[in-house]
Amino acid sequence: SKPVVAIVGRPNVGKSTLFNALAGERISIVQDTPGVTRDRIYAEVSWLDHNFTMIDTGGIEPDSNDIILSQMREQAEIAIATADVIMFIVDVRQGLQDSDSKVADMLRRSGKPVVLVVNKVDSFEKYMADVYEFYNLGIGDPFPVSAASMLGLGDMLDEVVKYF
Ligand code: GDP
Ligand code: MG
Repeated sequence: SKPVVAIVGRPNVGKSTLFNALAGERISIVQDTPGVTRDRIYAEVSWLDHNFTMIDTGGIEPDSNDIILSQMREQAEIAIATADVIMFIVDVRQGLQDSDSKVADMLRRSGKPVVLVVNKVDSFEKYMADVYEFYNLGIGDPFPVSAASMLGLGDMLDEVVKYF
């Protein structure tokens, strides 16, 4: 069966935007209950001669800081249990957050391959200096991307498919 790649990260870092960019089509937002939207969470992706199933573990995003960390832990556990490779997304504009470090620790301990994706690097000139702080997560080289502008995605995908 095809490799599974899970997208993990805090609310608002751009997981769904990245998912859409890689899925190559507009996402369908399904209104389950008034006031609650649920993103489509699976897509089949091809990169070069590789095919994989991508999962956005975001689901319903909490808007309370109190439950963000617990939800991230849950996401990470799902990803660790089901994925062959984990894409861990952080936001260059918000910088390194405590919850990023805690989830990175869980991912590192799992021994699963993790690709660290630093999103919202819309301009290398403007943001590249801020990418380096993410080395402090201790999960390897950060891959700068702009999901919104579709920059850096090729280099990032090259790294993901290395683990298949
Ligand atoms: P999620 O909560 O992690 O799924 O994040 P979303 O994909 O919903 O994006 C959260 C916000 O970040 C939205 O306003 C997006 O338009 C914005 N965003 C996502 N990717 C980028 C990017 O590459 N650059 C910039 N500047 N904004 C982005
Ligand atoms: Mg989302």
